[in-house]
Amino acid sequence: MKIVIGIDVGGTSIKGAAVMENGVILDRFVFPTKKEEKPEVLFDTICEKIVEQMNAKHYEVEGIGIGIPGLINSKEGIVTSSVNLPTWKNFNIVEYVSRKTKLPVLITNDANAAALGEAHFGSGKKYNNIVMVTLGTGVGGGVIIDKKIYDGNEGKGAELGHMVVQVGGRECGCGRRGCLEAYASATGLIASTIEAMEKNPDSKLHEIAKENGKVDAKVAFLAEAKGDKVAKEVVEQYITYLGEGLLNFCNIFRPEAIIISGGVANEGENLFSKLRKYLKDNNYGYKEAPKVEILPSELGYDSGIIGAACLPLFKE
Ligand SMILES: [Zn+2]
Repeated sequence: MKIVIGIDVGGTSIKGAAVMENGVILDRFVFPTKKEEKPEVLFDTICEKIVEQMNAKHYEVEGIGIGIPGLINSKEGIVTSSVNLPTWKNFNIVEYVSRKTKLPVLITNDANAAALGEAHFGSGKKYNNIVMVTLGTGVGGGVIIDKKIYDGNEGKGAELGHMVVQVGGRECGCGRRGCLEAYASATGLIASTIEAMEKNPDSKLHEIAKENGKVDAKVAFLAEAKGDKVAKEVVEQYITYLGEGLLNFCNIFRPEAIIISGGVANEGENLFSKLRKYLKDNNYGYKEAPKVEILPSELGYDSGIIGAACLPLFKE
């Protein structure tokens, strides 16, 4: 059975594992990422670990796939830049890692990797065309067409979170205004919750935030469940922005399924049932066009590792 290495680079740690061709994870490793540390130093340790693992277990590893948070040039194998990893500037990761390990290396951005993992081994496995949306600090997006990543020129496309849903709206980290990310990320939901709390000192949101210890993405949903009117408005507004974003993806790609992951997706059915209703009511040609399933991620935190492993597993 084929074995490859999948590596999921994050802002605080790098997780990796040997992955079998059936998607089963064998041996894991985790290394912390430090903001000031050069990627070469970090990858010296990681490559050593990989080589050591291969020698100890006699794995015939066929290649390495790496998912990276930031702008990459997938064709040239370069990390152009990464907001959370400031020292990663024009780093030729493919050249570096393949020289150290003598293995072929492929890269993509982290959201694309997660989407590819779900498409092959997660909730998207029975579909050929999916869109994956991650609702975390930002909004990550991945587009899979015929089981392959669609990521545009140099691998810099499919930035679904930076589609504008409110012209002239909230400022976004990318420098524009009104992006989906500014409203539908956990950060966006927290901003909406805080705005509502400031305007409504009598809302249950205050009490729930106090019990919760802080205002996070759960507070609005918790207060809504207790019948708070202001919280209901916050949740409805959240569903509207996220729903409009997903509708745009439905209308542009008409995927068989949209898979949603990330912190906000932990709301489970409470979120998914509302989204399904919104999409059913507003989808272009919803009576004649095929339905788009809205599904939670199946691989969860492993989608990044498994998805990165899918790069060498399913390369042309
Ligand atoms: Zn943006």
